[in-house]
Amino acid sequence: MKLPAVILGATLIIGFGWILVSALHPAQADRVCPECGEEALQRLDPETTRGVTCSSCGYTDRDESSWFLAEEETVLEEIVLRERARVAGLKPEELTRAEESPQNIETKG
Ligand SMILES: [Zn+2]
Repeated sequence: MKLPAVILGATLIIGFGWILVSALHPAQADRVCPECGEEALQRLDPETTRGVTCSSCGYTDRDESSWFLAEEETVLEEIVLRERARVAGLKPEELTRAEESPQNIETKG
């Protein structure tokens, strides 16, 4: 009868503790290079939030997220909107139309 209460209490404390820690210490950009250990990671492309490169040893990872680096340096919203349009290859107003039209338009006759 006592053990479940202890487990429940511990779970709640861990949960609230986690929220508190997350709120007090928000994620920060990790600029430590996995190759040389220098704090020299930069964004590979200022137009996107993907890809990092090391200015010290030249290490490059195209798939690594540079979201936090971008967050520190610039306005994320502009990048996200620009990237969304680029990925679709369409303007935002064209995007809604593209989603409506089905892929497999069968030609009759
Ligand atoms: Zn490096």
